[in-house]
Amino acid sequence: MLKQPSPLQLIQDELLTLRGIRLFVKRDDLIHPQVSGNKWRKLKYNLQAAREQQQKRLLTFGGAYSNHIAATAAAGKMFGFETIGVIRGELVKPLNPTLSIALELGMHLVSVDRIAYREEKTEIAAGLQDELGKCYVIPEGGSNTLAVKGCAEIVTEVLEQLGGELPDYFCVSAGTGGTSAGLVTGLAGMSFLRVFPALKGDFLKDEINSLIWESVGKKYENWQLVTDYHFGGYTKWNHKLIDFINGFYEKFGIQIDPIYTGKLFYGVWNDIEKGKFKYGSTVVVIHTGGLQGIAGFNQRFGELLKP
Ligand SMILES: *Cc1c(COP(=O)(O)O)cnc(C)c1O
Repeated sequence: MLKQPSPLQLIQDELLTLRGIRLFVKRDDLIHPQVSGNKWRKLKYNLQAAREQQQKRLLTFGGAYSNHIAATAAAGKMFGFETIGVIRGELVKPLNPTLSIALELGMHLVSVDRIAYREEKTEIAAGLQDELGKCYVIPEGGSNTLAVKGCAEIVTEVLEQLGGELPDYFCVSAGTGGTSAGLVTGLAGMSFLRVFPALKGDFLKDEINSLIWESVGKKYENWQLVTDYHFGGYTKWNHKLIDFINGFYEKFGIQIDPIYTGKLFYGVWNDIEKGKFKYGSTVVVIHTGGLQGIAGFNQRFGELLKP
């Protein structure tokens, strides 16, 4: 049902040979087609907590193309929870591929206008619970301390798969920063994490530090934000990015998404070219999934990405 541990795949490429880099992709995209990648890692201990509290319903928040909404709908169905998705903005008919699948999986979709969505999540959750019954509430993007705990396990798995060898670098994409916080706590001061925000994310530094602090009561210095590869902001893209994503798929047989992992791999490849990774080092890039979003992206922008 869920492919775990996810494979750790070694990639061969001329550029990597030239720069003396051994590069592995942690294939969390293969965990499940809908509950993919970091969204499964983040949900895992939240679902366990919901069960322990004998809750029957999950309530969460997301945009109309959200990987987290898709993952929560699928995980709820798989593990026997009702799901409620509070969606930012109107539910435009016909529903896009993400929301159609969520609906098919039994998620109850509630549309909320953008201002209320931004400012009144607590009130919205309270109102819906009065109406529908008590819910286990998961924040937008799924990032809380239980999500951090789940994402820390990526490190444990990678170290086991490398027979205890410590890679020099880990690389990951970031939206809310929950996955990055998990990796930092899992690393506990070892190795070095390069975080590639998918948005103009200078606020992410504080966000990640507070998630780490809430989770383990520590501050770590062995990580940094790489802010050069957001392509103008969240969900922004250009044809260079699209060509890179299609070329990457052709070359390595690994599909990446236009919102998060496409920007991540583009950034990693560029930084390897620029010599930002030490010669002779081992790099682990986390493929956080998100491939369910490709159908919606193609529908909006005109079949740009190879399905
Ligand atoms: C949500 C998501 C991210 C961002 O994860 P955060 O924990 O919010 O930083 C990265 N990659 C993919 C594919 C995602 O769906």
